[in-house]
Amino acid sequence: MALLDGKKLSKKVRQQLKDQVEVFETKVGRAPALAVVLVGNDPASEIYVGGKIKACKKTGITSHEHRLDPQTTQEELLAVVKQLADDDAVDGILVQLPLPDHLDEDAIIQAIPPNKDVDGFHPVNLGKLVSGLPGLVACTPLGCMKLLEEANVDIAGKNAVVVGRSTIVGKPVSLLLLQKNATVTICHSRTEHLAHLVAEADIVVAAVGKPEVVKGDWIKKGAVVIDVGINRIEDGSIVGDVEF
Ligand code: NAP
Repeated sequence: MALLDGKKLSKKVRQQLKDQVEVFETKVGRAPALAVVLVGNDPASEIYVGGKIKACKKTGITSHEHRLDPQTTQEELLAVVKQLADDDAVDGILVQLPLPDHLDEDAIIQAIPPNKDVDGFHPVNLGKLVSGLPGLVACTPLGCMKLLEEANVDIAGKNAVVVGRSTIVGKPVSLLLLQKNATVTICHSRTEHLAHLVAEADIVVAAVGKPEVVKGDWIKKGAVVIDVGINRIEDGSIVGDVEF
């Protein structure tokens, strides 16, 4: 069994980004700027936002953090997003999800101009993805494709099974695999005979959010598996959606 080396790839991507940031600076006269909006203090979101800001620093991207009170109203959050949308010195806006329950995520996402929607969640960017037009694509699905590309995995004509149909991972990665001419099966919580479908797959992408729901002995010999899942189990360790 060979392992896909995500760390090695991330180093390479970051170096490429650094180079692109330099080109941007020469052209525009300033570094690209990302505004990150965090509402409340969800511990996982804090970690994600911290990681994104650190990654910006390392690549030369300017980041502005907007930390808002958990009780922030829809109108207040919309006003912040609008201000960032109108600010020519802000190139990308990332509103960390999930938002507290009283806020309407869809309305907030739709308030981000599609060209600043670095998460790729805006309906315009999702529509472009469906149409095969260039647009901003969510980072996790794109990362899955980069991993496959880096490992020279032959995608065209292959059976790809994606477990999970979220708008953040499952659906976009299915569309990206389809663009590369895979025969794609999308599985979800209502799928019958999951084990059988997974066993037919040349490429498996698991994005479920349940520890080891895909069993190791379902995987066909020689299949490529990308496990997106991050699950903390009782003993405190982290496991994926696929039994390793
Ligand atoms: P999500 O929105 O909760 O979606 C989970 C999907 O899994 C749903 O489509 C659900 O089906 C399906 N599902 C649930 N139980 C199932 C089962 N027993 N068999 C088959 N399918 C089942 O989750 P998400 O946002 O896509 O995230 C998935 C996982 O990836 C989580 O562990 C998350 O932490 C992780 N994640 C990682 C990254 C990363 O960068 N590594 C980024 C994002 C997310 P229904 O649609 O029918 O409910």
